Amino acid sequence: MSEGSLQEVFIKRSQQKKKTSPLNYKERLFVLTEDRISYYDYDAEKQKKKSLKGFVELEKVKCVETVTPDDGAPPERQFPFQIIYDEGPLYVFARNDVIRKQWIHSLKHMVRIFNKDQMQKYHPCFWEDGVWKCCQQAVKQAIGCRVLESRNGGFRFDGSRRTTRKPLPPTPDEDKPPRPPPPQPPQPPTTSQGMTVIAQYEYTPTTPQDLELRKDEEYTILEMSDPNWWKARDKYGKEGYIPSNYVIEGTNSLDKYDWYCKGTNRSQAEHLLKTENKDGGFLVRDSSKAGKYTVSVFTKAGGEIAGCCRHYNICTTQQGLFYLAEKHNFATIPELINYHQHNAAGLVSRLKHIVSNKAKSAPSTAGLGYGIWEIDPHHLTFIKELGSGQFGVVKYGKWQGQHDVAIKMIKEGSMSEDDFIDEAKVMMKLRHENLVQLYGVCTKQRPIYIVTEYLSNGCLLNYLRETLQSPHPVQLLEMCKDVSEGMAYLESQQFIHRDLAARNCLVDGSGTIKVTDFGLSRYVLDDEYTSSVGSKFPVRWSPPEVLNYCKFSSKSDVWAYGVLMWEIYTLGRMPYERLNNTEIVDKVSGGLRLYRPQLANEKVYSVMSSCWREKPEDRPTFQDLSASVQDLLYEMQ
Ligand code: ADP
Ligand code: MG
Repeated sequence: MSEGSLQEVFIKRSQQKKKTSPLNYKERLFVLTEDRISYYDYDAEKQKKKSLKGFVELEKVKCVETVTPDDGAPPERQFPFQIIYDEGPLYVFARNDVIRKQWIHSLKHMVRIFNKDQMQKYHPCFWEDGVWKCCQQAVKQAIGCRVLESRNGGFRFDGSRRTTRKPLPPTPDEDKPPRPPPPQPPQPPTTSQGMTVIAQYEYTPTTPQDLELRKDEEYTILEMSDPNWWKARDKYGKEGYIPSNYVIEGTNSLDKYDWYCKGTNRSQAEHLLKTENKDGGFLVRDSSKAGKYTVSVFTKAGGEIAGCCRHYNICTTQQGLFYLAEKHNFATIPELINYHQHNAAGLVSRLKHIVSNKAKSAPSTAGLGYGIWEIDPHHLTFIKELGSGQFGVVKYGKWQGQHDVAIKMIKEGSMSEDDFIDEAKVMMKLRHENLVQLYGVCTKQRPIYIVTEYLSNGCLLNYLRETLQSPHPVQLLEMCKDVSEGMAYLESQQFIHRDLAARNCLVDGSGTIKVTDFGLSRYVLDDEYTSSVGSKFPVRWSPPEVLNYCKFSSKSDVWAYGVLMWEIYTLGRMPYERLNNTEIVDKVSGGLRLYRPQLANEKVYSVMSSCWREKPEDRPTFQDLSASVQDLLYEMQ
């Protein structure tokens, strides 16, 4: 055994990898070596190490923290701690607090060397029988409900965002009524006060329980049990609920700089820069490579009247310093930007004008205020008709005279309303930047209304056919990426769309694609639409197992995603345009697949084709797909 390794007998809790597997507690000898923590069967009488039972590589550990002991736990289980890695938490009970502290300290220290990608939030209580006891979330991967007092990972300076993977979003708790103020989670002894956050956007309260947010001001978080609406206190001591996606933690982030356009991709950056049309206009955005940043600059140099955009990746030296075109190194990104605001130093132009997307586009909130899902129709004003679909007319309007909304007026007899109203409570809690947000419903009158986020560029299919002209290959791939991320979220929530297609995606003002109408097809009352032999059934987007046995799954959504990629790359052609529905069922079951669109290269085509594998289990998941698309994007930049 290497020198300096620690060993100790602890009680280990079984890991309940399946919901149904029973909990048990066994004595194991734990050994901490350079790169792993291993545990062995142990002969207490002879004090001898026996066979190896398992180990966790330190490289995979994302967090080490204490756990609040269960009420009434026996004396030998009063000092638990958790080692969180890919497969979830490993719970270990130390004999006393001194040993526990020593191990947590050593583990944290060693883990930091291996893995900078550390969690910033954790669950202070146990995961048990399929639920987190602290926040009642029922998904094991659900992001922690408490912020770590002492940060785990290697946080160093502005913008050193080490997370390569997005934390899994919160999950809806299906059996409960919508957002009652939940009980306070038990407080572990270490945490005494809430964290400070900074508002990124203005938020005007929409209910008496809400709290106003003023951009750039600090707020203290008091309660986080609802993942979408946190209780907070402002600097005057006023308390209320705020949309959790309107604030960011602490002050150590690029978010406070106007030049940092979070969530902006290459084509959106070009769009912003070209709209501004100023020589030396610039912004900083997330690079397609996770955790990295890109500076996008607009220039009219070289006599081009239209101007053009250049993109520079911010590189890091081995010492962790930042530089752009030439090696002028800086400890932080803001310092680097400041330097290039005064010196071109290898760039096509000095960074002269900040181009920002801030404040123009506050993101949508989950619901229109804390606890609102039934909307008073008197608060809606109708402005114009947007189109009509399966359920009737869709209108653009305002809620309370100021918030843009789209209102679906459900034609009577077209929807199984009570079932939908039940489900709407679940759908309200789905929140992702690539899903059209459901804001609420008006169910006290007929026709009932479904109120959602409004997207000014309308339906993707029309956008592909009419608006896009000679699109850049990166732009098409970015659309695919948007959809794959929205769908990966639905997949993580075990929510099946059932009607994914370009007609069910919408485009916002800056070109971001969002998926809509998820799960709605279940409530359609129209046999032509719901029966797989009906004339309105989405046969062209359906895999063989749906056509033949109506077997829907996230993998049937994956098939549809492949067809949607094909629609994007053909700029909105009808799939299998020469075949009718009956012919399609026959031929697709017999192995026919869509051809490679001219705009799609072999790599792109191989991603879309992988969605059309005969057996559902052979198809990639949405998580795989978004990673593949991301890789292709990276190669293109
Ligand atoms: P349905 O789901 O009832 O079939 P659609 O969702 O197809 O209806 O809506 C009909 C049309 O209304 C769409 O093609 C689109 O142009 C427009 N539309 C629907 N929802 C929105 C929205 N949230 N924002 C902007 N336009 C929308
Ligand atoms: Mg639709």
